[in-house]
Amino acid sequence: MIQTKGYAAQNAETNLAPWDFERREVGPHDVQFDILFCGVCHSDLHQIKNEWGGSIFPMVPGHEIVGKVVAVGSHVKKFKIGDLAGTGCLVDSCRTCENCQEGLEQYCLNGSSPTYNGLEQDRKTPTYGGYSNTIVVHEDFVLHISEKLNLAAVAPLLCAGITTYSPLRHWKVGKGHRLAVLGLGGLGHMAVKFGVAFGAEVTVLSTSADKEADAKKLGAHKFVVTKDAEQFKSVKGYFDFILDTVSAPHDMNAYVSLLRTNGIHICVGVPPGEIQVHPFALLGGRRSVAGSGIGGLPETQEMLDYCAEHNIVSDIEMIDIKDIQTAYDRMIKGDVRYRFVIDMATL
Ligand code: NAP
Ligand code: ZN
Ligand code: ZN
Repeated sequence: MIQTKGYAAQNAETNLAPWDFERREVGPHDVQFDILFCGVCHSDLHQIKNEWGGSIFPMVPGHEIVGKVVAVGSHVKKFKIGDLAGTGCLVDSCRTCENCQEGLEQYCLNGSSPTYNGLEQDRKTPTYGGYSNTIVVHEDFVLHISEKLNLAAVAPLLCAGITTYSPLRHWKVGKGHRLAVLGLGGLGHMAVKFGVAFGAEVTVLSTSADKEADAKKLGAHKFVVTKDAEQFKSVKGYFDFILDTVSAPHDMNAYVSLLRTNGIHICVGVPPGEIQVHPFALLGGRRSVAGSGIGGLPETQEMLDYCAEHNIVSDIEMIDIKDIQTAYDRMIKGDVRYRFVIDMATL
């Protein structure tokens, strides 16, 4: 077994602390890479606090992982020692169901293996994520990372990037569309970058008036402070799409009213609890509420290649791992500009 250093939550009540554990030896199809940077996703916080239920402890969070390959199995074809490598939210899936066959491993009908807070395909070995010094992953779930981009700023693409890229591509959001990005955090700021790159008119809907200058710098065309009743009213019935990245409970009926006829409210944020939408909010204007989960492996590689080609990365604030709790506290307050990334050399 490979001795591994990490940071773990032992239960939902305690803070993260150093924790040593073991990873499997490198199998014939495995890639081992040393982790250089790991992004901090709001999903890490939801799961450590068991806000979605069913959390598995000890939990080593982290699913925005980049680093350098240090070992490859005898049958590995796609990677060699020294290559840059990345892993996102998945480390395995059944590979045989129709969704896996289509590269939609995130929707594996038999249950994919999340990078942490999950089980390997043997359904008994827990998975441990990227707040750690090294990781072993089947080569099919390891992504190629361009040498052209700032590596630390690439890390958040592995979750925040693909989670926003995938729905915008699926619904073909682009020229002629009015896109609202609801919530300007880790996911939201990537959604703005992609929305602008794809040619949509992008409006940020934010609770934080002080993010306007940033939103414009990110390329957004408009900025609406949602707490300001006049500003909110001014965009009623306006948008073709709302990409909802909000991490806390919020009034869906109010936001859905901002959609024009046939508009779609796409949920990617996962607040604790259920959402409530009144049928009248939808049927007046044939509006829909939809959802989208991360992205499959082929699309994640497509997104990374697109970002390398168009020079798109995340706006990051680098932190030492010992400061992770402060980062979480700031994240809860919406005080992230716009993704914390852990420098794993500080582990
Ligand atoms: P984040 O960086 O904390 O950003 C969330 C943003 O939501 C905040 O910056 C804030 O933006 C806004 N917000 C917070 N509380 C709000 C409230 N009460 N009302 C309205 N807006 C509020 O989080 P993130 O990492 O981007 O993740 C966002 C959500 O997506 C999380 O729930 C996460 O679990 C989920 N997620 C889903 C997937 C998926 O596959 N679908 C993948 C990754 C993450 P403003 O200051 O602009 O209002
Ligand atoms: Zn995430
Ligand atoms: Zn499957």
